[in-house]
Amino acid sequence: MSQILVVGSLAYDSIKTPVGSVEKTLGGSANYFSVAATVLSSVRVVGVVGDDYAPQDRQILESRKVDLAGMKVTPGKTFHWAGFYDDNLNEAQTLKTDLNVFADFDPILPEHYKDSKFVFLANIDPNLQMKVLDQVKSPVYTGMDTMNFWIQSQKESLLQVIKKVDILLINEGESKMLTGCSNGIAAAQKLVQMGPEAVVIKRGEYGLVLNHRDHGLYLLPAFPISEVIDPTGAGDTFAGGFFGYLSHVGTRPGFQDLKRACQVGSTVASFTVQDFGLKGVMKVNPAELEKRKVQYDKFVGNHA
Ligand code: AMP
Repeated sequence: MSQILVVGSLAYDSIKTPVGSVEKTLGGSANYFSVAATVLSSVRVVGVVGDDYAPQDRQILESRKVDLAGMKVTPGKTFHWAGFYDDNLNEAQTLKTDLNVFADFDPILPEHYKDSKFVFLANIDPNLQMKVLDQVKSPVYTGMDTMNFWIQSQKESLLQVIKKVDILLINEGESKMLTGCSNGIAAAQKLVQMGPEAVVIKRGEYGLVLNHRDHGLYLLPAFPISEVIDPTGAGDTFAGGFFGYLSHVGTRPGFQDLKRACQVGSTVASFTVQDFGLKGVMKVNPAELEKRKVQYDKFVGNHA
């Protein structure tokens, strides 16, 4: 098993969904990703928090043996995101993005991070994603995520990072925004011409589309969940499960590995949406994952 290097946000989130709300709960793409990825693998984090970051929040990753040598604490406030969902739970509406300490973050990788073989650039400023990627010596497989905030504010930098990674994971709405395509499949086809050999278009409760430049399309429905409490972090935990599986395999993934990784990612994400914040994904362990995998295999017609 290889370790995964992740750079992303470490955040406090204020979230409102049709069933309730939470104020300044622990979130951020790197936290969600790390909790999910450590079900099958191990993780090194690059990110920054303010001096308001609570010791018990740091403890969540420490208890999962996440390497926090690349997590900087600087004077000021931790990144804060506020958002809500209306009846369309597949799309978050952002109310506020306070970058705070992330605004001046300059990621310098600890020496031992530089040989990481699996690298995930979670949703964060593309300039930071690029700085991290440039410091890794010879990665086996690299991936990234992004969102509307960065497509609107840093498109040129974002396109440069997209050129350099092996796989892009992106929401359907954001894939259309990025490519100018009004159709998700057309966006998936355009994105593999922009650099990455593969793209996963995430479609919330409707599942996903994987498009590989050489192997074409793979479609997967989501694991069925009838009561979604809070979809925040579903994408990041999908990525965590996806990369957790790939790094567990350890070699450069082929198309079959990517399909399997999609199934693991979707299964992990299905736990996330069943509770607020990180609570849902924190319930996942290898035994729970295996149980849901058996059910999922039946639903999608995978027979051993
Ligand atoms: P997801 O629902 O998987 O797309 O990710 C939700 C997480 O992304 C939340 O925990 C937020 O803290 C984090 N987030 C929201 N906006 C941004 C942003 N502009 N940059 C980085 N992270 C963000």
